[in-house]
Amino acid sequence: MRTGLLFLLIFSLHSFLSAQSIHLSGFNDSNALEELKREKSFDDQISRENIGKTIQDLSSVPHNLGSTGSREVAEKIQKKFRDYGFDVRMDVYQVLFPVPKTRILEMTTPQVYRALLKEPALKEDRTSGQTDQLPTYNAWSADGNVTAEVVYVNYGLNEDYEVLSKMGINVKGKIVIARYGKSWRGIKPKIAQEHGAIGCIIYSDPQDDGYFQGDVYPKGPFKSEYGVQRGSVMDMVVYPGDPLTPGVGATKDAKRFASHNDAPNLLKIPVLPISYHDAKPLLEAISGPVAPENWRGALPITYHIGPGKSTVHLELLFDWKMVPCYDVIAMIKGDVFPDEWVIRGNHHDAWVNGAQDPISGQAAMLEEAKAIGGLLKSGWKPKRTMVYCSWDGEEPALVGSTEWVEDHAGLLQQNTIVYINSDENGRGFLNAGGSHALEGLVDDVAKNISDPQTGVTLFERLKAKEVVTAASPQLAKEMMDKTKIHLDALGTGSDFSPFLQHLGLPVLDLSFSGEDNNGVYHSIYDSYDNFIRFVDPGFYYGAALSKVAGHISLRMLDADVLPFDYRMLYKEVKTYSTELQSLLSNLRESTSVNNEIVRKKYLLIATDTANAFSPPVLKQEVPYIDFSPLQNAITSLGRAADHSYEIMNTKGMSAKQTDSLNRMLCRAEQELLLEQGLPLRPWYKHALYAPGFYTGYTVKTLPGIRESIEQRNYMQAEIEIKRAAAAINKLAGYLQQM
Ligand SMILES: [Zn+2]
Repeated sequence: MRTGLLFLLIFSLHSFLSAQSIHLSGFNDSNALEELKREKSFDDQISRENIGKTIQDLSSVPHNLGSTGSREVAEKIQKKFRDYGFDVRMDVYQVLFPVPKTRILEMTTPQVYRALLKEPALKEDRTSGQTDQLPTYNAWSADGNVTAEVVYVNYGLNEDYEVLSKMGINVKGKIVIARYGKSWRGIKPKIAQEHGAIGCIIYSDPQDDGYFQGDVYPKGPFKSEYGVQRGSVMDMVVYPGDPLTPGVGATKDAKRFASHNDAPNLLKIPVLPISYHDAKPLLEAISGPVAPENWRGALPITYHIGPGKSTVHLELLFDWKMVPCYDVIAMIKGDVFPDEWVIRGNHHDAWVNGAQDPISGQAAMLEEAKAIGGLLKSGWKPKRTMVYCSWDGEEPALVGSTEWVEDHAGLLQQNTIVYINSDENGRGFLNAGGSHALEGLVDDVAKNISDPQTGVTLFERLKAKEVVTAASPQLAKEMMDKTKIHLDALGTGSDFSPFLQHLGLPVLDLSFSGEDNNGVYHSIYDSYDNFIRFVDPGFYYGAALSKVAGHISLRMLDADVLPFDYRMLYKEVKTYSTELQSLLSNLRESTSVNNEIVRKKYLLIATDTANAFSPPVLKQEVPYIDFSPLQNAITSLGRAADHSYEIMNTKGMSAKQTDSLNRMLCRAEQELLLEQGLPLRPWYKHALYAPGFYTGYTVKTLPGIRESIEQRNYMQAEIEIKRAAAAINKLAGYLQQM
């Protein structure tokens, strides 16, 4: 009976595979069948239980950069890779990492209140009472001792300061209090500093991730009264990594700035994150005008903006120490093309225990490595080299990955086929972002793996969500007709950034999320106990991540022709160019209307005379800009992409021809690098993707042009159009040579 069943299974798998159109991008027909069988045996070795055990083990102690816990975790990971059959080494960098010596926040008037600045241990959370936890703080805050009136600035974005300026409120010489959300946290103190504030407090409002959203921890997954989001406030959109060594690896003898005061990406004002328990007395005491409706959070108070009445004293001192940064690098040499590297990475350092961020992704990656090790034992040899990287120091500033990338830049630009990143993972839907030439590959893989909860493919589940959450019936209809997955453009926020934006290498970033409610992010409660209740009970989505990243790795390792389809990139860039043109014409329209409102004094006449009012100034009318260099370059790219696709599909190429074609395909994206980099931030060199200068994580596509328009610098926009067009023309010329 058993053998019969087994035979039937093998038979049906075989006929299933043969009946499939056996078209697998990158593989010829007979190799495609082999590849699918290999993926099946890879999947058989992925164990949810084992992923769970790894998460419990690696999140059992606090393990931030520079801690003994971090070293222990790195050593455990090193041992695992070794057991799976990999050559392993530890690349160690010497990097700056500030930890707090003094943290004082107290309200001095109208009442005295001393902030707790502490997350309490909970009996429901076994690791929450451990010693060696980093206290609640924002890394890279400046040292400072300031006392001033407080101004509430909503999310602390540029548009919030425009509202303040209309109300005649200035933050010069004040301490601002901003709520978490809507931007990367480092943007809030940066903008506050630009407006002359002398200190910045960031708190978590219950509206954003607390009781307004659902039950709070430990009853539910949302942020409790005392939960605090730690995190970096380095100005990473200027450059990430060790702030003392921009552009070079932070090896022991590297040339570095003498002091952190010389680093141009560090703040000059103190900044501290707090819980809403600590924020409530401060906000309650603020007087001045009542905050506009969309500025109000979910605390049971009337939100005022200030300044006035509420004065606080903020005192922060840090130990600016040098610490070792442990990157674990594991490798299996390729049998045919050892100098072609498929690189897979996830960080291992956490702010505290980090069961979700980053261990959920780390455990999935280790499970992939285990399965690859299993395939090796069964006699398979990958054509190309597989490299696993387990990064340290991601949380403070993508330190481990950035230093490694800077240290090995030349070699990586020679040898990298793709860098595949993951980070935190949870229950929900597939998120995939990265280099658009790889969209077809990700699409193939997402249609070949089932969603663990519903059994439909990952693609179908994602599509269903996009249909039901579409903003209009029209958009829902469009989503229903969708036949292919779309890759998101990448900004920053994880270790793919140096590979993509500094070196121009093809990258992918993968995760599951959407049903993993997350109020414990970067707090002591991001623990195993939280994870098994609220993030991914049963570790089903950990296994799904292993399969997605594993299949992509396997296909890139063994593909006959590497599946880079630059027609997808062309389509994408064409969309960006259209977007920019409508951005400019919308700005022209709104500027002209607003100027009319100012000139005719409508605002002044309509404003409540009981409130202060400072009339807005006229803005420069928006000129017409010549986009034709960009449009022409994109047209050339379209033709060149069609040409390269035809060449890729030529029948009867010799092994040598295929090999040189592959080398060209994976290096093409480097043609998009701008030699001088982006305005004000030469470290960022990619002409198509960068994190926003005033938004942080979120991507700005064609960033040089887009940000010049947003900042109303139209002369610069014309220069940037020419620079981007030159880069796109370079790529077109390169693809045309294939
Ligand atoms: Zn992370």
